[in-house]
Amino acid sequence: MNASSEPDLDVAVVGAGIAGLSAADELRRAGREVRVFEAHDRVGGRMRSLRKDGFVIDEGAEQISSQGYRATWQLVRRVGLRPAEVPVIGRGIGVWRNGRARTGVGGSSAVLTGAGLAPRARPDLARFLAWTARAGDALDCDHPERTPLGTETVAEFARRYHPDLHDYLLQPLTGAFFGWHTARSTAAPAVSLLREVGPVSAWRTYRDGMDTLARRLAAGLDVTTGSQVREVVADGNTARLTLGEGTLTARAVVVAVPAPVASQLCVNAPAGERRFLDACSFTPVLKVSCALRRPLAPRGRGGPYVLLTPEAEEDTLAGIVVDHAKHPGRAPAGRGLLSLIATPRQVPTLLGAPPDEVVMRLTRAGERFVPGLTDALLEARVHAFAHGLPEATPTALGLRAAFQDRAPGPVEYAGDWVVLRPASEGAVRSGALAAARVLSRLGAEARDTARAWTQEEGVSR
Ligand SMILES: Cc1cc2nc3c(=O)[nH]c(=O)nc-3n(C[C@H](O)[C@H](O)[C@H](O)COP(=O)(O)OP(=O)(O)OC[C@H]3O[C@@H](n4cnc5c(N)ncnc54)[C@H](O)[C@@H]3O)c2cc1C
Repeated sequence: MNASSEPDLDVAVVGAGIAGLSAADELRRAGREVRVFEAHDRVGGRMRSLRKDGFVIDEGAEQISSQGYRATWQLVRRVGLRPAEVPVIGRGIGVWRNGRARTGVGGSSAVLTGAGLAPRARPDLARFLAWTARAGDALDCDHPERTPLGTETVAEFARRYHPDLHDYLLQPLTGAFFGWHTARSTAAPAVSLLREVGPVSAWRTYRDGMDTLARRLAAGLDVTTGSQVREVVADGNTARLTLGEGTLTARAVVVAVPAPVASQLCVNAPAGERRFLDACSFTPVLKVSCALRRPLAPRGRGGPYVLLTPEAEEDTLAGIVVDHAKHPGRAPAGRGLLSLIATPRQVPTLLGAPPDEVVMRLTRAGERFVPGLTDALLEARVHAFAHGLPEATPTALGLRAAFQDRAPGPVEYAGDWVVLRPASEGAVRSGALAAARVLSRLGAEARDTARAWTQEEGVSR
């Protein structure tokens, strides 16, 4: 607090991931002075991209969709990105079964072709799709706790159907894309998300890397990178931030970091908030990007851009993303770029292993699906996220409604975990929500102050 006891900052945002940047952008547009503090030396968080030797490597997120990403598309338009800068991927998803890739997962003809499901399981896929269509808007990604699925886990939900729907559809999808264990995470957010994002043909990627939107937003904001916040304390109507360089006060702070980090930072969070923060566990995720001499890829009709490798078939990998098929600009002409995603079962051990060993284990496993991979390897990089995706356990889902209904305070939160949606659209929506809560509280305070002044003036006249 400065000498005049005015806070040092109007609004501070902790974290320049897509949630923090969305919140900061909303607040700036509403006329607030916003400062963003980011621990890493680059913005984007789990949507960061790395550029090296002509390769554009998406370290975390891979794609968005034309459907179900309403808030993201609003931002895309607002920052002036053209549709050509977020092109359709145009390739499908395959699943490995009995020694070969079966294509068409998540496609409109999967019921007919099977997309890796045994013939006897296909009527159950039709039944599953018909159920999601009937459930319609009740599968609400913004309120996963309200769906008819309750707090059923993915594994429990899958028991309604032929075992293939678990082993060759729900487990590989949630394992590769969310790092989930189906016995721990709830079906509601996953099924709602699958319904909302539509068929794979609607999926898109940012032409110049998945960090494109974050970089555009950051360009219009006051962002300090390499600045780790160590503590956030609510103090009456303001909040105090401790950084390496000292302490700052702000009228409001938006803490836009994964829930386990927020729980550590916010030392005096009220009990109700803390219960939800602590229940919002995250799955760790690890992948290895492989820059290749040649554009090698898993074999399969149409050349899938993601090959899912189910736990029923494979011990080390959850999937392989063919980045150069996702967009040709990801690799220089004639080269290739693949991402090997570790299976959730292996990630906890891999997180503690030396990078060389991680690369060796994943590339060796990758040889089975992409013969010649090790020989074509130019360079490999490990991307490890201790907090990869919100796990959306039954406990977290059960506590979400109360968290959402809490009164606004000087410390607000943003992040995909706030809506328990394991995708960047959840982060963007949570950013807008946090900004709205800050604005409503500061607006109400401003009105109260103005009223108090008017009354005082009336008394003194
Ligand atoms: C491997 C992987 C693949 C994914 N694939 C997809 C996908 O294809 N499509 C999709 O939509 N979503 C995907 N996601 C999810 C998506 O990336 C996230 O939902 C989204 O990026 C979360 O954004 P966020 O701002 O909530 O959090 P984050 O991106 O984690 O941002 C938090 C930021 O806070 C910073 N920070 C942390 N602690 C501090 C501190 N103490 N002080 C200051 N700064 C701090 C971090 O460095 C980070 O930049 C994927 C995630 C992962 C990990």
